[in-house]
Amino acid sequence: MICVIGGAGYIGSHCVKRLLERDHKVVTLDNLEAGHRAAIVGGEFVQGDYTDRQTLDTLFTSYPIECVMHFAAYASVAESMTDPAKFYRLNVVGGYTLLEAMRAHRIPYLIFSSSAATYGEPRQIPIPEDHPQQPTNAYGETKRAFEQMLRWYDVAFGLRSVSLRYFNAAGADPEGQLGEDHHPETHLIPLVLLTALGKRPVLKIFGTDYDTPDGTAIRDYIHVTDLADAHILAAESLKGGAPTTAYNLGNGLGYSVREVVRTAEEVVGHPIPQEEAPRRAGDPARLVASADRAKRELGWQPQYADLRTIIETAWRWHSTHPDGYGDRL
Ligand code: UDP
Repeated sequence: MICVIGGAGYIGSHCVKRLLERDHKVVTLDNLEAGHRAAIVGGEFVQGDYTDRQTLDTLFTSYPIECVMHFAAYASVAESMTDPAKFYRLNVVGGYTLLEAMRAHRIPYLIFSSSAATYGEPRQIPIPEDHPQQPTNAYGETKRAFEQMLRWYDVAFGLRSVSLRYFNAAGADPEGQLGEDHHPETHLIPLVLLTALGKRPVLKIFGTDYDTPDGTAIRDYIHVTDLADAHILAAESLKGGAPTTAYNLGNGLGYSVREVVRTAEEVVGHPIPQEEAPRRAGDPARLVASADRAKRELGWQPQYADLRTIIETAWRWHSTHPDGYGDRL
């Protein structure tokens, strides 16, 4: 059985769905602070906090768990700069509590949601896994810190793990059942589409003076269902004896903010109100993954790599769920 911590969130919920489709038994642990009950499409559900050892002890004795997939973290870069304590408490101290409980209950494998934010300002593009990790924000630092803990927990205790460094997770369940619903929403694609729906007045383009062909920042958008598939492959690889490691997950393709907005306008069929705005603090000009290792070693093959497809799936969700899951109105 696989335990998905944070399985009611954006990426976690898509992973739960994919696991169930592949006939895995799943138990989701989520405190629903940011997650949505309606996003858990099946399997068992326990509402609780993974930073609480008692909750983990009860969970780990109640279910025959072989692998933990850990998605639960604070993820707002901007907030991490004003309140790093909050991020250390959940992402690092909470992570320690989780690892100690896994150790006590002899759960052998963990898949960890890491981030391209662990690299900081890129020195080369595309970014390979052995690129130096020098985060420029506290969020990325907490992700890096937990990756380091994982390394030493393997050396000393034999707990094996895969850290998956996501680039820009985007899109929604191709069947339209699940989507992205953050409060507050800060990500580009949902904001563009909410603006198209008239839920936001105007899309701000943060920075038009970057050293890129059209002056706006370039990111590697990767479909959330493709991310989910990589988790399943990573869990299978650990079970097959693979060592602790980290993989980048991206398409290796960079799109600028203006390209994203233009493609979204094509998908929705009308212009989207937009205005130029200053750069957002801490945003690098370009982040593009080299995901060759995940493809080679895990046999991962993204199915929804095309930006238009990514935006079409997101639009299907937003246009049919203009208030998201409707539980935070
Ligand atoms: N962005 C923007 N307007 C917005 C939100 C984001 O121009 O309302 C830009 C942001 O500056 C970055 C890119 O879109 O260059 C992707 O931002 P997002 O927050 O989606 O992901 P990040 O790359 O920060 O993880």
